[in-house]
Amino acid sequence: MSTAETPSSSNFIRTIITDDLESGKRDRVITRFPPEPNGYLHIGHAKSICLNFGLADEYKGRCNLRFDDTNPTKEEDEYVEAIKEDVAWLGFDWGEHLYFASDYFAQLYLWAVQLIKAGKAYVESQTAEQVRENRGTLTHPGVDSPYRDRSVEENLELFEQMKNGDFPDGTHILRAKIDMSSPNMNLRDPALYRILHAHHHRTGDTWCIYPMYDFAHGQEDSIEGVTHSICTLEFEDHRPLYEWFLNELEIFAPQQIEFARLNLSYTVMSKRKLLQLVNEKHVNGWDDPRMPTVSGMRRRGYPAAAIRTFCERIGVGRAASWIDLSVLEDCVREQLNESAFRRQAVLNPLKVTITNVPADRVEELVAPNHPQQPELGNRTLPFSNELYIERDDFMEDPPKKFFRLGPGREVRLRNAYIIKCDEVLKDDNGEVIELRCSADLDTLGKNPADGHKVKGIIHWVSARHAQKVAVRVYDRLFNRENPDKAENYLQALNPESLQETEALVEPSLLQAKPGETFQFERVGYFTADSKDSQAGKPVFNRTVTLRDTWAKMKA
Ligand code: ATP
Ligand code: MG
Repeated sequence: MSTAETPSSSNFIRTIITDDLESGKRDRVITRFPPEPNGYLHIGHAKSICLNFGLADEYKGRCNLRFDDTNPTKEEDEYVEAIKEDVAWLGFDWGEHLYFASDYFAQLYLWAVQLIKAGKAYVESQTAEQVRENRGTLTHPGVDSPYRDRSVEENLELFEQMKNGDFPDGTHILRAKIDMSSPNMNLRDPALYRILHAHHHRTGDTWCIYPMYDFAHGQEDSIEGVTHSICTLEFEDHRPLYEWFLNELEIFAPQQIEFARLNLSYTVMSKRKLLQLVNEKHVNGWDDPRMPTVSGMRRRGYPAAAIRTFCERIGVGRAASWIDLSVLEDCVREQLNESAFRRQAVLNPLKVTITNVPADRVEELVAPNHPQQPELGNRTLPFSNELYIERDDFMEDPPKKFFRLGPGREVRLRNAYIIKCDEVLKDDNGEVIELRCSADLDTLGKNPADGHKVKGIIHWVSARHAQKVAVRVYDRLFNRENPDKAENYLQALNPESLQETEALVEPSLLQAKPGETFQFERVGYFTADSKDSQAGKPVFNRTVTLRDTWAKMKA
């Protein structure tokens, strides 16, 4: 995969990297994507993936996929597998460079011992509560721990006992000895190791002490020779600590560079909240097509290329920003407009009888798969005297600008003839139940013989041949731009985010393969669900509407 399809605009990280290569500070580019395997990837992660793998591609370097699995209580192999699948689906290849923080546990332990020996780390035996109290605040310095001056020997012995499992959880931690009055709270003797008698998804019960994220991350980058360690802005205040460790340990020092995380309207991105949506069944799993997860978007039918285009288009900066969901949807539309085969499907049917076509006649019309790309071939479309059209495409008393069907009016049937509505049949309640129309059978692919113009085109299916399929019409998962502004974000859930309905579709759609996307002409893009479709019995997810209907509603 290359970034050639989306010309790279410049961003401040590219500038830093180019300068580093030109000045000789670096002779190559190694980046990494470091997910914690405690949930599925979301669109924010996709931004980080496109950035890290994209830069590596661009500078002919490499990007490592590294699982930051330092927290055994929340991490699972299921997440590791899902994350690998998502990164690969997005079009990126880590080659042999698949790593786990847990592979470095032994080395990290040795480095902790090294810091103790250098008098730069000590075993803290105050309670967690006391440690918190003595840490001070942004306006008040912290207080030195009574254990801060333990001898190197005592610290070594205690740390070894911690490792051997001699103490219960929470009784001791290993802390760096930096500065309890630093204005940067991260430098007030941060924790390096904690005791956790927990089973790790990869190391099992080998360890009962686990490194803290801050003590692990920079050293992992260093071991892997990462040149540019790109992370989100909340780590800016951790950078001095990141550099302190590398400096004290005298090991290769990658450069940490922060950028603003992606926030997307009408959704939430915190893994804790996404997990809650899944666990409390507000959605049907991590890959529910309404979720902002990569797997949800894939199942909904978003092409990987559209997500890459989106990530490139929104750019990389340092100012916190909110991106409107419609920007992503536009990328999806642009991509699908190019690639999706066209089909006809009616969601809200109204019967039409063509009075001048004999009941026993079936015509196999030829319709292109894509009107702008004849090389994509054709399919046949059965036409008969009984059709269904969309109820919305008929109005009994239409305004002047309505170019579809009304009493006495003409319209072209897509890929077929021009018809005229001669008669409107109603039931006892006055509801329109059928239109009786005549077709001009000399209008297949051409205008009427007398040269008059018919403006409107509507889609249709042959009643006898149409197949009923299940359709899931998705809308935004939340009905507030920023769900976190609600008292509880769950209150902002859109109760109408999923509507299950049916469509009458042209017969060829029964062959839709799971994951295949079509444009139902004039209706929207629909993708055969990858889980619930069966051979000959697809279930369609609405991927995206043809236009941005939300923008119109707000206007
Ligand atoms: P949480 O939701 O628990 O805060 P996280 O975002 O920290 O999760 P990680 O698995 O640690 O999840 O993230 C892996 C990488 O993805 C990190 O480098 C992180 O900076 C990046 N990332 C996460 N969220 C976003 C986002 N919204 N925009 C851009 N990058 C992100
Ligand atoms: Mg994180």
